[in-house]
Amino acid sequence: MIKIKKSISIPRPLIKNWDKDTYKKLCDKKQDELLNNGETETLNNCDIYNRVITNNEDFDGKTFSFKAQGLYNKPVAKEQIMKDQHYKCCYCETKIKNRKKNKKYTENTFGYGVVEHFRPKAAYKQNREKLNYPGYYWLAYVWENLFFACEGCNGNKGNLFPLQKPDKRTKNHNCKLEPFENTLLINPLLENPEKHIKFHDAVPYGISDKGTKTIEICKLERLNETRDKYLTKVKKEKSLIDLEYKLTIRTKAINVEDIEFDKDTLKMLMNDAKDFIENATKNEAPYSNMVRCYLSGLDK
Ligand SMILES: [Zn+2]
Repeated sequence: MIKIKKSISIPRPLIKNWDKDTYKKLCDKKQDELLNNGETETLNNCDIYNRVITNNEDFDGKTFSFKAQGLYNKPVAKEQIMKDQHYKCCYCETKIKNRKKNKKYTENTFGYGVVEHFRPKAAYKQNREKLNYPGYYWLAYVWENLFFACEGCNGNKGNLFPLQKPDKRTKNHNCKLEPFENTLLINPLLENPEKHIKFHDAVPYGISDKGTKTIEICKLERLNETRDKYLTKVKKEKSLIDLEYKLTIRTKAINVEDIEFDKDTLKMLMNDAKDFIENATKNEAPYSNMVRCYLSGLDK
C-alpha cells in the first residue's frame, strides 16, 4: 500500500470533497443547476436522513437510494480513479490493467477491479460481526471517498470500517469528518501507508495499530505467495547488479567489457537488471512498498 495522489480535476458526474457546508450549498442550488445525478441523489439521501430522524423511524438497507451508482462506475470516472492509482489496487498494490471484465475473481486472478468506497456508503461494521445503519450515505459520490481496489481486498473489507474510538464516528451529513474520526483503516489519500506497513520479504507487518489493522481488514497476507514470486525476480535481478559490483572490486575497477567470457550478453543482462530494479521501486510498479522495504533493508 502506498500514498495516492488524486487528480484535481474530477470526473464531472462526481462531487468534489465534502465539508459541513456542502449540504447547504446543494440545497441552495435550483434543481436545474444541480450538476448531475450524483448531486441530486446525495441531496435526496440527506433529506431522507432528516425525515427518518424527525419521524423517529429506523434505518435499514432500503432507506437510501444509490441508483446512480453507474456514475462512479462510468468509464470516465473509473478510468481516472484507476489512472491516479497507476492501475493498482489501493490496498494490496496488485496491478489490474487490461484484465477482462468477464474474468471472475478467484484467489489468483484478482478480477477486473472495482470502485471502492473508503467509507462504506450503505452500512458499516466496527468489527466483523454487527452491521450498523446508516453508513456514510452522503459520501457515495464524493471523489475523495472513491478508490480503485481489487475484488479480493474490496470483498474482505466489505463494510468494515473500524475507528480507534467508535463513539467519535461521524453519524450524518451535517458533521465534520477528519480529524475527529480516527480511522483504523489507513486512508492512502491523507497519510503515507509506508509509515504504517513494512515487509519481511513478502510478508507484510504493521508498525502501528493502523498498519496491523489494515493488513487484517484487507487480509493482505493472502497474497504472500504472489508477492514472493515477484520478489524472487527482484532478488535475481539485484544479484546481477551485485555481481557487476563484485567483479569491479575484485578486478580493481576493471570494466565488465574486459572480462573474457560472453561479455556482451553479461553487460546487457546487467543493464536490464539495473532498469528493472529502478522501475520496480517506482510508484507505478506492483508491490512497490515491499520492493522498497527489501532494497532499503539491503543498505543496512
Ligand atoms: Zn487488492
